Amino acid sequence: VGETPNRKRVLLKVSGEALMGDGAFGVDQQTVERIAHDIGEVVRDGVEVCLVVGGGNIFRGLAAAAKGMDRAQGDYAGMLATVINALLLQNALEREQVASRVMSAIHMSSVAEPYIRRRAIRHMEKGRVVIFAAGTGNPFFTTDTAAALRAAEMECTLLLKGTQVDGVYSADPKRDPAATRYDELTYMDVLANQLNVMDAAAISLARENRLPIIVFNIGEEGSFGRVMRGQGPYTRIIE
Ligand code: UDP
Repeated sequence: VGETPNRKRVLLKVSGEALMGDGAFGVDQQTVERIAHDIGEVVRDGVEVCLVVGGGNIFRGLAAAAKGMDRAQGDYAGMLATVINALLLQNALEREQVASRVMSAIHMSSVAEPYIRRRAIRHMEKGRVVIFAAGTGNPFFTTDTAAALRAAEMECTLLLKGTQVDGVYSADPKRDPAATRYDELTYMDVLANQLNVMDAAAISLARENRLPIIVFNIGEEGSFGRVMRGQGPYTRIIE
């Protein structure tokens, strides 16, 4: 496992919102298919790709807790939401003739393999896309943290966060027309200024493992492939 050096392996975090398309909730199938197509393009380029998929388009534990739900219970529901997204993404990848496996951090043996690190690496070595579902398997975490964790475990050279914005801005670009996009930031910039990119646990984990992060707009068709070829716009977070 993992014996070939210099192979390119990346982890793409697909947030739940990215699957909504122009909708306000749930999944827009066309958007899922387009994202799967973009992933297929990168896989055909010879890159090993694994995915962590969010669930915020369906359920968020924190939001439910704000309305009185038990936080841990809400978080478990949120993790199950990521499994739904993972299955939809897998289906779309299959339609693109991209081989994939879903591995769940919560045992769900009828629909997904259990997460086993060395097995996940083996899948990627065989050219399969591994979709990590159910986050870290623990409440009080996020799928961003799961993305940083799995990327470190998989010895990825890059963690990409696909969002609805083409990078990290000095202010919310939708509200403030003077907001500017950063080309590059350090982990410390993000942590010290509490920039709204990924939660602190995810950034800290990436920092400890010297894992570069790229934030880009996955809503733009073909953007994943362009970013992999070094074409912006995006924000790079490094040491
Ligand atoms: N979640 C969790 N532990 C994890 C990952 C996710 O409890 O390791 C729960 C949490 O309630 C979160 C929900 O799953 O709100 C959906 O994940 P997230 O909000 O990270 O998805 P995204 O924002 O990427 O759509």
